[in-house]
Amino acid sequence: LRGGRPAREMPFGPGTLTRVIAVTSGKGGVGKSTVTANLAVALAARGLSVGLVDADVHGFSIPALLGLVAPDGTVPQPTRIDDLMLPPVAHGVKVISIGMFLQRGDGDGTLGAVAWRGPMLHRTVQQFLTDVFFGDLDVLLLDMPPGTGDIAISVGQLLPNADVLVITTPQSSASDVAIRSGTVARQTGQRVIGVIENMAAMLLPDGSVLELFGSGGGAAVANSLSNGDSPVELLGSIPLSTALRQDADAGVPAVLQHPDDPASTVILELAARI
Ligand code: ADP
Repeated sequence: LRGGRPAREMPFGPGTLTRVIAVTSGKGGVGKSTVTANLAVALAARGLSVGLVDADVHGFSIPALLGLVAPDGTVPQPTRIDDLMLPPVAHGVKVISIGMFLQRGDGDGTLGAVAWRGPMLHRTVQQFLTDVFFGDLDVLLLDMPPGTGDIAISVGQLLPNADVLVITTPQSSASDVAIRSGTVARQTGQRVIGVIENMAAMLLPDGSVLELFGSGGGAAVANSLSNGDSPVELLGSIPLSTALRQDADAGVPAVLQHPDDPASTVILELAARI
């Protein structure tokens, strides 16, 4: 990353021809990164030019989800051309993540940790958006950190034109905080374009239905974020899925590896709609 020099102009701010979509959630572990990675790949598979900014700087997971982590733990670095960076491409998606700039942990094969405060986080996200040469994109997705912390506020300032997708599980402990993330996004002028419920009911082989995390969270968030002239829709409900989880672990998103899986089907339909 770049030190000292003044910030370059923001190519994805107001007036951009690129559709900018920030994917957010109230809390971690609801599948935000998994859904974002699959959605990015599904959009690229439809022939769109797609960029993905891993804005979850503390909890980055996009390189692994897109198969960019080699067995020895190394992640490809962006190619540098003067002071611009060319992002690595994974499954048709141009990707930038802090994981590409960290050293591996001492011999344990894991990537280093990031313990930064607000100004460093702001600068990192700003550089991802200004110093990475994505070229002309149809869609830029941002995998946001959960909640309403420093990065959410920075992205709200840098990209007030962004559309926001809110991910929640069906459980009220996730949906209650997801509502807050959507509300904060809106306060910076961003438009909440919909809610995606993840880890919803799963059909078991014996025909019974497992509602591990209950039901209703997605609809509750959509209702709560709707107001008179701007309704917020529940865009899809992604079931719990072993394939989605296993393919994520293997670095080949389920929309490519198991497109007929019920979770993939919902994400592929979503990619056709947004
Ligand atoms: P977040 O980005 O919200 O922290 P992740 O995308 O890292 O969440 O997902 C958390 C865990 O849940 C991961 O192990 C992931 O593979 C798993 N997961 C996500 N969505 C599903 C799903 N629909 N079914 C089964 N496992 C899922």
